[in-house]
Amino acid sequence: MDTYLRIDEDGDYVFQSMPCPFLLADNYCMVYASRPRACRAYPHTDQKNIKSILSLCVKNTETCPAVYRIFEKLPEQIP
Ligand code: SF4
Repeated sequence: MDTYLRIDEDGDYVFQSMPCPFLLADNYCMVYASRPRACRAYPHTDQKNIKSILSLCVKNTETCPAVYRIFEKLPEQIP
């Protein structure tokens, strides 16, 4: 934890540097079998209380095509 993580202004553990130090040159995860819970749950769009992380999800639309597609389809789901 001391080597790779720091605590951010919200009190959450985040990587000290980006991109993630476990991301290999071939885009595979070096620690895939033991990756952090946040990585397993990404992009978090199936979370029950998505309203609490809505701004994060909106920000993820900028980098994750899957999240972008989900948000693009949202208006069709609202009656
Ligand atoms: S899945 Fe998580 S730990 Fe693995 S490379 Fe991606 S961000 Fe890093």
